[in-house]
Amino acid sequence: METEGTISLLVQLIQNKCVNPPGNEMTSIKTIQKYLQEHDIESQVFESAPNRGNLIASIPGTENGPKLMFGPSHVDVVPVENPDDWEVEPFSGVVKDEYVWGRGALDMLYIVVTQIQAFIKLHQENFKPRGDLILLIVADEEAGGIYGAEWMLKNQPELVQTDYLVTEAGGLFLAPGKFVVMIGEKGGAWKRISFKGTPGHGSMPYGSDNAAAKAAQAITQITRYCDSKMPITTEYLGYLAQGMGLGFVQRLMLTNRRFLSFSLKNLKKRDPQMARVIHGLSRMTMSPNIVHGGTKVNVIPAKAYIDVDIRTLPKQDDEYVVDQLKKALGPLAEEATIKSLTAEEGGFTSYGNASDVSSEFVDAMEKAVQKEVPGSKLVPFIMPAVSDCRFFRESGVQAYGFSLFDPETPMSHLSELAHGTDERVSIKTIDLSQKAYYNLARIFLGK
Ligand SMILES: [Zn+2]
Repeated sequence: METEGTISLLVQLIQNKCVNPPGNEMTSIKTIQKYLQEHDIESQVFESAPNRGNLIASIPGTENGPKLMFGPSHVDVVPVENPDDWEVEPFSGVVKDEYVWGRGALDMLYIVVTQIQAFIKLHQENFKPRGDLILLIVADEEAGGIYGAEWMLKNQPELVQTDYLVTEAGGLFLAPGKFVVMIGEKGGAWKRISFKGTPGHGSMPYGSDNAAAKAAQAITQITRYCDSKMPITTEYLGYLAQGMGLGFVQRLMLTNRRFLSFSLKNLKKRDPQMARVIHGLSRMTMSPNIVHGGTKVNVIPAKAYIDVDIRTLPKQDDEYVVDQLKKALGPLAEEATIKSLTAEEGGFTSYGNASDVSSEFVDAMEKAVQKEVPGSKLVPFIMPAVSDCRFFRESGVQAYGFSLFDPETPMSHLSELAHGTDERVSIKTIDLSQKAYYNLARIFLGK
């Protein structure tokens, strides 16, 4: 399959610099529309707000077969915080050392361009799928999807209706012959916990009722509870252990509630990033990240609050969240006021969700990978953050994070690079991913 065109399109999208906010994704949507036109493919563009755009193209199914979507794949990227730390100019799209460098290369422009290339090849081969093959490119994923995936579902529900979809955050190389398929994602339930105290003079603190001191105590308790006392779910670790083909003892260490904290402590020393991933896969997490209290250095504060980033697993609802927070706070809970952060306060609430872990479609994804890396297996994973998949899963779509990384790119490396400094994607990954998408459409929608 052609890689040169894919790379030059990727470079162009990086240079378009669709940093969100404000996004201005129309620039990249137009680039893509033109690229498709050059390959005789007509697409429809929808402007959801000035300069915010979404694009859709499809190859109609010849039978009433299942529909498959490439995407929603987003063209917006996050800002660059420290351009001086980069080895290259972050929006130059430099190709060097067998990598394409630049903000968005990994998250997720390489998927946008490889899905486009697979779609083009299928079109050129006059592919006749049994159900529709849809290509959906969207805006605004990095800021909540209001003008992108969510907008399309609200305003063009028939066009984006599908049974299955593949998009970002899968395909990571886990171990030889093991690649991640993202079957679900955690939700978010961001909370503010406020405390009251009695104002007084800072010169005479003995026996004082200090709101900031309560907030500090709450932070310590929440952190400890999250580390080691939060109820553990081993379901997702079980998939991981099984998929990795771990031996009995290793599997037991990972999936037995009692052994898990011990395993995590050991792993933290050897591979802190992996320890974080496994910890997050095994429970709801709570991270107190903002603390506010006091007005003047000589006044005992009467008010203080902490904002907590809480991430839920699928099926954990708000009642569960509040219940766990109260348990973490212990007797302090009686003095705490817990509320959800509103959108204006930078808050965010969504529920975790997951698609089927085994099905004909999951088999097709595995076969698509095996064609490029013989004998390999897919390992189901739950993503710690949220993506556009949630909008589709909520309407019953089976949605997966799926692509194919070259084994030179370990998973820990990726979590540092996405949204990080020196973000880049290898040409080998671009080549493998476009083949994986092509294979998937052939295997699942072919006759
Ligand atoms: Zn992304």
